[in-house]
Amino acid sequence: MYASEYQLRQELIRVTRIVTEQGLVCSSDGNISMRLDDNHFLMTPTGLYKMGMATEDPIVVNWEGGVVKGKPGYQPTSEFKMHLEVYRQRPDLNAVLHAHPPYCIALTVANIPFPTMLVPEVLMAIGEVPTAPYARPGTADLVSSVSDLIVDHDSILLSHHGSVNASETLEGALIALERMEHTAKIYYLASSMGELVPLPADEIQALKTMGETRRDKAAI
Ligand SMILES: [Zn+2]
Repeated sequence: MYASEYQLRQELIRVTRIVTEQGLVCSSDGNISMRLDDNHFLMTPTGLYKMGMATEDPIVVNWEGGVVKGKPGYQPTSEFKMHLEVYRQRPDLNAVLHAHPPYCIALTVANIPFPTMLVPEVLMAIGEVPTAPYARPGTADLVSSVSDLIVDHDSILLSHHGSVNASETLEGALIALERMEHTAKIYYLASSMGELVPLPADEIQALKTMGETRRDKAAI
């Protein structure tokens, strides 16, 4: 059963503020959406300053990105096709959070794969985080760069651009995003202090198995 539209609007605004306050998006960057029902999605409109958004600001769009409810002139985010592609590929998930987390983006700019071998919570809670090749924001290329990866991964990095976290709930997407940025920051700090020492190989394998089992159970 779907939560009421008003509850989802409140949740969308709450998470938007947390993401902005934590510096995971800048200004009007990034965008967030939630599945409203089988055919409609609640979505941040394009161009709005995120900290100033109110509960009545998110728009309702259909599968074609058409605005079925919204203040006059409010348009979908330029990334709406990417959001809809995630919902198309993942009927099990209800929220998509696209952000611009600086430490994660810095990893992609430095061409460093997302580090899963430094702290246990990444493999246990998120799993592997692939990096989609660079594609210009708002284009069909960006949609196709995400399309295949999202089938097997809830969290993705977009090279030289940002992150995509999809989850059953918007809070779940937020938690994954926070964990990713925290890990990228640890990578940066540890790299500046000395040589990185990964977790032992057998521990990495055990964590991977634990994480896969946990996520499989959650999907049932
Ligand atoms: Zn973006």
